[in-house]
Amino acid sequence: MSGVLHHQSLLKVFHVKAKKTGNIVRVTREVYTRDDIYCQSRSCKLCNHTNPTLINNGTLVHYLVPTCEVILKYLEIFEVNVLKNVVFCETLFEYIHDNVKHSNKMTGSIKAIIADKNNRKSILYSNEHSNRTLITPRTESETIEMRNERAILKTADWYASHLKESKIIICLLAIDEEQCKRLNELKDQSLENLKIMTLKEYLANKEYYKQDASRIDLEQLYENVTITKEHETVDDNEFGYQDYLTLDVIEPGLNSGKYYKGVLRVNQYNSRNAHIKTTMKQNNGIIEEDVSVRVLVEGSADRNRAVHGDMVVIELKPKSEWKKIGSDESRTEPVGRVVAVLERNWREYVACLEESKNNTGDYLLAIPIDSRIPKIRIKTKQKNVLENMRLIVRISDWEKKSKYPSGYYVRTLGPIGDLDTETEGLLVENQLFTSTLPFSDLALSELPPVSSGAEFKIPQAEIQKRRDIRKTHLVCSIDPIGCEDIDDALSVKKLSNGNIEVGVHIADVSYYIKYDGYLDLEARRRSTTVYLIDRRLDMIPTLLSADLCSIRQGQDRLCVSVFWEFNKEGEVVDTWYGRTILNSKYALHYEQADELLKKDIGALQQLGTLIQKKRLKDGALELNDLEAVSFKLDNAKNPVKIETKDDLLIHHTVAEWMILANAYVAKKIYDSFPVAACLRRHPYPMKDKFQQVIKVAGSRGFEIDLESGNSLSNSLDRAEDPEDKYVNLLIRSLTTRAMSEAEYFSTGTLPVDDFVHYGLALQFYTHFTSPIRRYADIVVHRLLLWAINNEPNPFSTSKLDEMSKYMNNVNRASKLAQMESSEWFKANYFREHKDTIEDAIIFNIKSNAIYIFIPTFRIKGIIYFTTKEGEFIIPETEQK
Ligand SMILES: [Zn+2]
Repeated sequence: MSGVLHHQSLLKVFHVKAKKTGNIVRVTREVYTRDDIYCQSRSCKLCNHTNPTLINNGTLVHYLVPTCEVILKYLEIFEVNVLKNVVFCETLFEYIHDNVKHSNKMTGSIKAIIADKNNRKSILYSNEHSNRTLITPRTESETIEMRNERAILKTADWYASHLKESKIIICLLAIDEEQCKRLNELKDQSLENLKIMTLKEYLANKEYYKQDASRIDLEQLYENVTITKEHETVDDNEFGYQDYLTLDVIEPGLNSGKYYKGVLRVNQYNSRNAHIKTTMKQNNGIIEEDVSVRVLVEGSADRNRAVHGDMVVIELKPKSEWKKIGSDESRTEPVGRVVAVLERNWREYVACLEESKNNTGDYLLAIPIDSRIPKIRIKTKQKNVLENMRLIVRISDWEKKSKYPSGYYVRTLGPIGDLDTETEGLLVENQLFTSTLPFSDLALSELPPVSSGAEFKIPQAEIQKRRDIRKTHLVCSIDPIGCEDIDDALSVKKLSNGNIEVGVHIADVSYYIKYDGYLDLEARRRSTTVYLIDRRLDMIPTLLSADLCSIRQGQDRLCVSVFWEFNKEGEVVDTWYGRTILNSKYALHYEQADELLKKDIGALQQLGTLIQKKRLKDGALELNDLEAVSFKLDNAKNPVKIETKDDLLIHHTVAEWMILANAYVAKKIYDSFPVAACLRRHPYPMKDKFQQVIKVAGSRGFEIDLESGNSLSNSLDRAEDPEDKYVNLLIRSLTTRAMSEAEYFSTGTLPVDDFVHYGLALQFYTHFTSPIRRYADIVVHRLLLWAINNEPNPFSTSKLDEMSKYMNNVNRASKLAQMESSEWFKANYFREHKDTIEDAIIFNIKSNAIYIFIPTFRIKGIIYFTTKEGEFIIPETEQK
């Protein structure tokens, strides 16, 4: 058994113990100590560990060993992902369990830090179970704290002597001068590489700790946390929340159906209301079955300090208090109140300070940008500096006597309204901020060695392994103007038998990125290139994305290709997959290609159209990105023009070939790895989401038919008003919003019938054609190569499932960020162009507002007639 496995099983033991609050029965258990609990240092040659976590970055390599007191008070500083190489002693867990009221939140945080190996490089050391760090039992005159100090000193001491040869410094972090003094007196040997210092000293010592690229000033954070914790006073107001129930009460209640659990979701437009989705047992007359139910939680008292995203336990209120749905008296929605929080899901929030008239109080309120998050009380001495600034704040606690949660401010993003500040803000809010940080030295060290000026030469041995189409095939790429990361190209060739061979060639990114290497892990974490209006956050380093992998004109490039042979009827008679080397003859942009289509590469278009027709006949939907607009920016990045995108024939032709390649590769990897292939599905639309589309189309006399993809597609085609071209645009735009989201999944998790891609009308689909900007495509490339080489697939169903879910989340976040960035630029544009007059379509009317769509700018919005207080709003022009 490896040391790593051992750590996990220990963690489990602690988890189970933590649940036993209430009547704690002390169980004396035999402690087995072992010799094989390794140090996990990359520099160590004595231990028999595989893939150790602690790294050797920088010139002054050092590991941190914090005492219990440091973690108890300053865990926040370790949470922000700046400090690396932290050795958390097992001793901490027991201590936290006995000294912290809701200890599982704290131990959960530490476990999360340890689990995030790739970024944090931190470990749990099972010092209480290792023969190397065992200490003598507690004496009668010794307090638990003193015994723990001894245990942690012993661990730090062992690390220092164990790693003496490698010259690694061990920083034992103490809470204050006194603890330093005690530890210094206690240590029984003098090791040069063991440094005992306070956390504060460590953070101030620029030799060890340098402010990192994320610009989080830990010294400042230290001050903020200190102020918050040392002046933990509660408002005098009489606000009082209910106590939370303990786990020994909740667990049986959850089983018996007295309580229900679910993730609390706050309504974005009305933050007074929140709900959870949970499952309840319901008797349908014959059997009892699980039904998914939505439970409403109204007002802050019933929400009882739960924050949007927390996993909560609720109790249902009596039926007389349930909420009526519409005018029908018999239809009601259950209402509940929060009785406990199982898991806090607090993150970093972008906020600004509330403008307060009387600033006499000790606390200031920070208002998060996300309307679902409550105001946060922070304590700071820098009020004047922070006003009119965007801040990042965290919640540290929510006392039951306090109306608002208390927290601290982590750092300043910059002045409100500034482009860079707001962009960084929207990235933090969407949890994409880490994608802005530079690639780590370790990741960059895995890139091919290219000294400045010298070109990377593809090794001769590699060329020999591949199908060489440099001289035999006419290859070209077709992309938007200015595209630097060209990841796909096409070829077409007339064969001697009269058939036509078409090839789709995709950059062989996985050749340059070693499976599970540092670069791979970093690309996996980023998961996608994020495109904002004025910037791009790359998934892989520029050397690969814009150079070695980009299929540039006239350069030898490595690719993974799919070839099809078509007969005269346009049917596929043969397929080939594999690694190739090619040299692109033309890197065209769309406009050029549109011209050329009629001549040289006409066959591509004819065949492409044929395949598309067949797909459309099978029920594929034509839903382009109708809301996308492009901006023209001046040198200061001010938007000077907003344009809708042109739809050229060539777009469709290129897209059609990419869809075909994706579909073929999907089938291929599924056939080879039926339970662990990464595919992409697009579920059938949910009818209730289509109510608005049906209503809007109905108002013009059109019927929307959801029966099948085919019928929906046809009914969208019919919803065409020859007098008014925007009717169809609006209906398609609303349809896009109503559709389910497409998602990645692991084939072992679903029955084959559910694999369907509804929008494209394909049974098997995946992403293979953009490995430079999507991690899923890198995964699919590897799967394809393992499949054609008959190599084993190292992915299990569950590992791929986990990875797919992660990629889905990051994709969603990156789309949101892109939309928000576009909104910001639109708003900025209209600040300068106030007199713009454009036509708008009203697509919904409510008692106090109309919903409009402005086709020229692809803007949907709400115009209110009254304020929240019910007063009529009079447009400015009429006030004059
Ligand atoms: Zn070692």
